[in-house]
Amino acid sequence: MPNSTQKYRVCVIEDDPDVAFFMKTVLEKRADSVVLTITAPATAMQQIAEFEPDLVLTDIEMPGVSGLDILKQLRVEYPGMPVVVMTAHVSVDYAVSALRSQADEFLTKPVASADLVSIVTRLAEEGRTRMAASAPLVVLAIGAHPDDVEIGVGGILSAHRDAGNKVVILTMSRGARGGDAQNRQHESLAAAELLGARLFMEDLEDTQISAADPTVGIIERVVAEVRPDIVYTHSAHDRHQDHRAVHAATLVATRSVRTVCCYQSPSATIDYRPTRFVPIDGFTDAKLALIDCFQSQTELRAYLEPDFVLATARYWSRFGGGQNCEPLEVIKDTADISMPVSSMTQGTRFKGNNA
Ligand SMILES: [Zn+2]
Repeated sequence: MPNSTQKYRVCVIEDDPDVAFFMKTVLEKRADSVVLTITAPATAMQQIAEFEPDLVLTDIEMPGVSGLDILKQLRVEYPGMPVVVMTAHVSVDYAVSALRSQADEFLTKPVASADLVSIVTRLAEEGRTRMAASAPLVVLAIGAHPDDVEIGVGGILSAHRDAGNKVVILTMSRGARGGDAQNRQHESLAAAELLGARLFMEDLEDTQISAADPTVGIIERVVAEVRPDIVYTHSAHDRHQDHRAVHAATLVATRSVRTVCCYQSPSATIDYRPTRFVPIDGFTDAKLALIDCFQSQTELRAYLEPDFVLATARYWSRFGGGQNCEPLEVIKDTADISMPVSSMTQGTRFKGNNA
């Protein structure tokens, strides 16, 4: 997600190298931009894909390719990206075609540098706001062992996927104490695939997970890479030392994350005290299917029996809505009324807010 403190990235498609150089110089000096000039328009789409610009400026009359064709392709592949078309030949036809193809601005050459700077700055900023608003919500679920997050938030994660959110799972160990590590790794992969989640599988020593490094560093790296809006992790109120360690490390490593919540594990203690109850009606079968991926455990552990999983979800609905809920301890939830509109919209996409 672009950040408004970063320089604007601008592509200038212009077959005249002198004009291209002039525009690059003006925009880099006066519009806080990094500019890629493309003088061979046939390669434009490929170079744009690699450069990932905030905005494209294109000439119309170029050998082999028309800027209007490039505009049409950009509209299909990058619907929210601002595009400015330019021409040296003042023609009503061009202007009409450009507007029909939804150019954001139409400029006639020679372009005054003040106009260039003001148009590029305004459109690039608007484009960033649009892109940020349409970026999918990203959720990261962190567990000490394979199957922890599926048991804790399998229903909530399924609901996130159903809503089009990006789901990432980080598992800190391969669970060698609870079974064959190789097997459990395959089970984790199968569950992540079923869910449509991206899986980070670490290899810390089962039962020996530290609350400091390397655990904190691992979580920090994943947070920096996927930039989650919401993180789910273990509770501090848990008998298992690995779960408590992952809880503590998560709190340190998620300073930049807006919302952090703790799920219930089978080893949660009587002090586990949830304050949010997320309805998972419609996703209980999905949750059972995720848990069923962990065959090496389901044969051994009574708490993985479907009726027990469902009874637990049924019980928590007494505090929430619907028939079945997953409970969460809210550690922080910093969405507030001063947030810009796009962020508020993302907040409401988190199914089952305070019930
Ligand atoms: Zn565990």
